[in-house]
Amino acid sequence: MKKHVVPVSEIGRARRVAAPERAVPATGVLLDRLSRPLTDLRISVTDRCNFRCSYCMPKEVFDKDYQYLPHSALLSFEEITRLARIFATHGVHKIRLTGGEPLLRKNLEVLVEQLAAIRTPQGAPLDLTLTTNGSLLARKAEALKAAGLNRVTVSLDGLDDTVFRSMNDVDFPVAQVLAGIDAAHAAGLGPIKVNMVVKRGTNEQEILPMVRRFRGTGVVLRFIEYMDVGATNGWRMDEVLPSAEVVARIAEEFPLAPLEASAPGETAQRWAYRDGGGEIGVISSVTQAFCHDCSRARLSTEGKLYLCLFASSGHDLRPLLRGDADDAQITSAIGHIWQGRSDRYSELRALRGPDTDAAAPRRVEMSYIGG
Ligand code: SAM
Ligand code: SF4
Ligand code: SF4
Repeated sequence: MKKHVVPVSEIGRARRVAAPERAVPATGVLLDRLSRPLTDLRISVTDRCNFRCSYCMPKEVFDKDYQYLPHSALLSFEEITRLARIFATHGVHKIRLTGGEPLLRKNLEVLVEQLAAIRTPQGAPLDLTLTTNGSLLARKAEALKAAGLNRVTVSLDGLDDTVFRSMNDVDFPVAQVLAGIDAAHAAGLGPIKVNMVVKRGTNEQEILPMVRRFRGTGVVLRFIEYMDVGATNGWRMDEVLPSAEVVARIAEEFPLAPLEASAPGETAQRWAYRDGGGEIGVISSVTQAFCHDCSRARLSTEGKLYLCLFASSGHDLRPLLRGDADDAQITSAIGHIWQGRSDRYSELRALRGPDTDAAAPRRVEMSYIGG
C-alpha cells in the first residue's frame, strides 16, 4: 500500500528566526539549559539520495512523486561557510557533512575547501568529516582529500551482495562501496569508520562477516541500533538488536575489552579486540541514551537548525542569511537558540517508551537532517 506522500517542506516545519534584541556574543563556549556545550555541527548538503534504505528513505514514500527541495531553497556554499564560521566562534570544532547522500551535491569539494579554511578561536582548523553511502567515493576520495577533508565515515549494512542490494533497495552492488572504502584509504581519509545499522531479522547475520573483514585493517567498524527517527520507516522495537547483544556475539569469537571514550559527547561506546586487532564501536541510541552530553546541532539543507535528531521543528536561519542581518546578529540568534535547548528525546523514550502519539507533531526525517 502506498503511504501518504509528505513533501519535505512540510516535514521540516520551522520557526522563522528573527534577529534577537539581546546580544549573545560568542565566547567560544555556548551552553544549553542542561549545561551541554555546542561543539559539533552536522550539515546536510542535499535531501536527495541514490539509495532507498528502508530504514531511512523507504521506496513507497520517497518515490518519483516525492517533492524534494528546489535548488533555490538550498543554502549556497557561501551561506553554509558563513554559518560554519559563526558556529566556530561559539565553540563548534567538528563539522560533519551529511544528507541525503552528500556526494550527490555538485562540486562538494569546493565547499570542503571553504570549510577547511575556517579556524577556531584558538586558531586550530576544524575537524572536517563526511558521512556517505560510499557509492561515489571511489571517484571523489582524492579530490575531497586535496580540498582538506580529514576523514570519512562510510555506511555499509552487510557484505553479502544479496543482503546489501536488498537493504539499499536500488540493487547497488557491495563491491563498489568496498572499492570506495579502499579509495578513501589510499587517499589518506582515515581513520575510516564504517557504520552498520543492525536490523534484527534483516542483516544480523552480517555482523561477524563484517568483523572478520575489517579487523586488523585500521577501519573502525561501528554498529548502530536501528532508530525510530522520522515518521516513514515503520520502526518496531522488536527489530532493534540491542548493542549489548552485538558485543556479546562478537566477543564469543573475538574477546573484547571496553575502552574509554576518546572525547566527551562521543556517541559510540568503544571496545578493543583483546588480541590487538583494533577496535569497534556501538551506538546504542535506543537501549542506552546518551543525551546527557549531546553537543550536536544539525543544519538542514535549506538552513533550518535542529537541536535534536528527533525534533519536529527547526529554527529557520535562512531569512537572516538572505536578509540584512550582520554576523553579530546571526551569532546572537544562534546563541539564543542553543541557550534555550532542553531536548533529550532518547532519555525520555527510555522512561516513557517511543513517541507513537499520532497527534504529536511529525518528526523530521533522517534523510533531511542527516545522521
Ligand atoms: N547517505 C549517507 C549515508 O548513508 O551514510 C549520509 C546520510 S544517512 C541519513 C546518515 C546515517 O544515518 C547513516 O549511517 C545511516 O545508516 C543512518 N541511519 C539512517 N536511518 C537510520 C535509522 N532508522 N536508524 C539508525 N541509523 C540510521
Ligand atoms: Fe540514503 Fe543514507 Fe538514507 Fe540510505 S541511510 S537512504 S544512503 S541517506
Ligand atoms: Fe542528542 Fe536528541 Fe539524540 Fe538525545 S535524542 S542524543 S538530545 S540528538
